[in-house]
Amino acid sequence: MSRQKTRGIVLSRKLSGEADYICSIYTKDLGRERFIFKGIRKSQKRPRSGSEPGTILDLIYYTGISGTLNTISEFDITVSTLPIRKSSDSIFSLYYMVELIDSTTGFGDINEKIYSLLCAGIDSLAKTEHPLHFIIFFTARYMALQGIMPEITSCSWCGCDGSNGLFIDPVSLRASCGSCSGGGKNLDGEAADFLHQCLSCKFTKINLQQYKNSSVSPLLYALTAYIENYFGIKLKSAEMLGKSALTIR
Ligand SMILES: [Zn+2]
Repeated sequence: MSRQKTRGIVLSRKLSGEADYICSIYTKDLGRERFIFKGIRKSQKRPRSGSEPGTILDLIYYTGISGTLNTISEFDITVSTLPIRKSSDSIFSLYYMVELIDSTTGFGDINEKIYSLLCAGIDSLAKTEHPLHFIIFFTARYMALQGIMPEITSCSWCGCDGSNGLFIDPVSLRASCGSCSGGGKNLDGEAADFLHQCLSCKFTKINLQQYKNSSVSPLLYALTAYIENYFGIKLKSAEMLGKSALTIR
């Protein structure tokens, strides 16, 4: 059993026995893997917060004979979730982010771009005053990275660039120009414009004041439903996030 090092982001955790946590961690070198923190709930020396979803850790671990569960022997918290815990919108956004990656990636699929997106996402979430806008941005970027974001810069029917604006269907996310649009219910113009911005600009370059929470929140539902349908999953944190983001505004 040789010891190895990596850095990773905790995606989920569950209790095992009385004192252990088994966590799904997205690592830089191995992609998503399962790790066990032995005895961490009763440890005086090692902080339990190291196993909290959203935490970024430097890990020293060894792989068991079966190779399915890695045992963490030492860890250092590189980035804690503390700055994100300032508001319920931020914390639910964090839960959504890690659940999204946890439920849509396979074990051992190494993708450094996903790793980097997640690290940058945790950093941005700690800084932004607009967690709802950010989680939509993150989700759209993740979908583009996974190759499942439909093309929304031209009409999906006739291929024109929609110089008079394009409509986006909230279910299929297909774009259509004025002539091809069937007149069904589309995302409103502000939401469609925000989605364009998310896919073409850095988050810090988007003028967020321009996009009201009430206008962009249908995007969160649309993207979530699209992902759930595509992967055949249910994102539990989406409901909490939706409730949190829409109240007291
Ligand atoms: Zn068209």
